[in-house]
Amino acid sequence: YEADAFRTAEQPAYTKCGVRISFYSNIDFKEELEGLQASGSEGVGLFRTENLFIDGTKVPSESEQYNYYREMAETLKPLPLVVRLFDIGGDKLLYSPVREPNPNLGWRGIRILIDVPEILESQLRAVLRANTSGNIHILLPMISSLEEIVFIKNSLEKLCGEITSETGTTCEKPFIGAMIEVPAAVEMIEEITSAVDFISIGTNDLTQYTLAVDRNNVIVQDLFDKFHPAIIRQLHRVISTAQKNRCMVSICGDMGSDGLALPFLLGCGLRKFSVVSGDIAKLKKTVSRFTLEETEALAAECLRLGSAAKIKGCLENFQAAR
Ligand code: PEP
Ligand code: MG
Repeated sequence: YEADAFRTAEQPAYTKCGVRISFYSNIDFKEELEGLQASGSEGVGLFRTENLFIDGTKVPSESEQYNYYREMAETLKPLPLVVRLFDIGGDKLLYSPVREPNPNLGWRGIRILIDVPEILESQLRAVLRANTSGNIHILLPMISSLEEIVFIKNSLEKLCGEITSETGTTCEKPFIGAMIEVPAAVEMIEEITSAVDFISIGTNDLTQYTLAVDRNNVIVQDLFDKFHPAIIRQLHRVISTAQKNRCMVSICGDMGSDGLALPFLLGCGLRKFSVVSGDIAKLKKTVSRFTLEETEALAAECLRLGSAAKIKGCLENFQAAR
């Protein structure tokens, strides 16, 4: 059985009606690139660069980052490498010099990058210099306003110009994408999808912030429910708006690995998933069981339901019938 699953994993995934679905990997370290293609992955959809912080506190230098990203990009090429800028702060890395009373609502991700130019610029420079094969894309964490995107685009423009004059060869600007993981970004999805090349939906934080449920607090664990109608409706809105605005869209939150959620996401129009490599074989098999037409009917039905229990029931019935 294992050998069989392996062979399936390396084949591209198609729905029962023949539409191609792509699977990429979420990774934390470059060592995970080994075996990436054997897992059926088509590249890295999320590289969480905050793991490069030494001992969780020391900012890696530009040259350390350059070497790291360069090695990854060259190993992967022509497959894509989506480098998410440091998502430090919050519950992840204690970068803040003060003890924040509510770190998840505090100095985190893009907010730190905008406030500390040394961190932002050394990371952007390292990425731009490492992108000699053109397969690196930049993803921005914790976006909650358009101004944050504009700020990073301006920095990129400036640094690209500097690198071009330093090296004498034109520095090409990579694709830029926004994480959709804060409810404000969902409200602004029309403008955000017009301002970036791609978006990636972070359902872990989106669930936490939409439902006001700490993703790491065991006391309220039962309330952390990605099938809550509020999340289901946000996902549909985000995916359909991205498609209308011809903005590439993928999911990188844990929901992308959930076989129960999969037909709903397909029915909303999602075609790209970034998940842990080990889940790809299983997900590719699941994809092949559905036609898009039936997933679209399923999504429409889920969007009409008013509770997580009813939505889960509907998804379970759908699976059981196939
Ligand atoms: C998410 O929030 O869903 C996500 C993918 O990012 P992280 O889990 O790294 O916060
Ligand atoms: Mg997140």
